[in-house]
Amino acid sequence: MALIVQKYGGTSVGTVERIKNVAQRVKRTREAGHEVVVVVSAMAGETNRLVKLAYEVDPDPISREYDALIASGEQVSTALVALALNKMGVPARSFLAHQIEMRTDATRSKARIESVGGPILRAAIERGEVPVVAGFQGVDAEGSITTLGRGGSDTTGVALAAALNADVCEIYTDVDGIYTTDPNIVRAARKIERVSYEEMLELASLGAKVLQTRSVEFGMKYGVRIHVRSSFDESEGSWVVPEDETMEQVVVRAVAYDKNDARISVLGVPDQPGVAAKVFAVLSEAEIVVDMIIQNSSQDGTKTDLTFTVPKADVLTARRLMEPVAAALGAATIKTDNQISKVSVVGVGMRSHSGVAAKMFGVLSQAGVNIQMIATSEIKISVVIDEAYTELAVRVLHQAFGLDT
Ligand code: ASP
Ligand code: MG
Repeated sequence: MALIVQKYGGTSVGTVERIKNVAQRVKRTREAGHEVVVVVSAMAGETNRLVKLAYEVDPDPISREYDALIASGEQVSTALVALALNKMGVPARSFLAHQIEMRTDATRSKARIESVGGPILRAAIERGEVPVVAGFQGVDAEGSITTLGRGGSDTTGVALAAALNADVCEIYTDVDGIYTTDPNIVRAARKIERVSYEEMLELASLGAKVLQTRSVEFGMKYGVRIHVRSSFDESEGSWVVPEDETMEQVVVRAVAYDKNDARISVLGVPDQPGVAAKVFAVLSEAEIVVDMIIQNSSQDGTKTDLTFTVPKADVLTARRLMEPVAAALGAATIKTDNQISKVSVVGVGMRSHSGVAAKMFGVLSQAGVNIQMIATSEIKISVVIDEAYTELAVRVLHQAFGLDT
């Protein structure tokens, strides 16, 4: 007998019919002799609808009320799933964050979990009930509702699995696993059987949208085995698990891309201590997340260029904030470019194989793709390129690193 946390995403609970399917699956899992804790997202499209409503009332909504509003979609789906289960004869009870003491800090809209209501859930399990927990939401020290960031139900699921010491956290979604790249771009993309936490962490933050990044961090920290699979069929999905020796044999596990960033260059800044600090201080005060950064080495030791990427949504704000700073520094110009994308190859095998970067750059140059920026870690290489070449770059890299076969 295992304890299984099953997290169902928005499409899996998107209609009454699908909610009944979810209840059936939970029932089958119980009949196979397992204990189940369910975590649900809001019904598909619901959170977006709530976000839109908030902005219609106030384009700059108060964060406390904004979180209270957008967390409400999960209240509906938890109750519906609990109703469906009881109707099928499976005792179940819905729980909102405050009812299980799912505590977070007070950072609205991207709150961090501080403690999880293990004891209350355990008691429910012992009574023979299936707890159906609202994903995405938490409660802060003063009792206000918080949310964990878009896609945050994944994190609720994995955090609960960690707290309850569950055997597995199953993430049910509308795709049947994690792929070597986006199958919409590369038909030959394949489902990955097993991926390490570290690889998944890179993939999630580099644009693969199957799992919220923070859920992978949780999984890695507490050793929760995560099984990403489809709620529409019985097929085996992809496992996110601790790394083992065989994993390094594959050099590149997957190719990811992200079109959400824009590039900003501050040209002709003085090449002296403190300049980068000033430039990035204003961005960090505005909570703008800077991703890649490049500083050119100056030709004559006096002036240099600073180039970095920020989310497209923040590029205008970033530019507005940079202008006075650049002027004060005597920088010549600020340039922005929205038409970029970041393409990355990821794999723990890079640690033990050399020449990955050379191969990647060679393949891209043969395809006529110009590289604007490069960033590397031990297990990934990312390049910024013209957005128009994204699909081409993904395709040639997927092939060159043997992922097509
Ligand atoms: N309902 C929330 C969202 O749409 C959380 C989730 O789906 O994981 O972002
Ligand atoms: Mg999701």
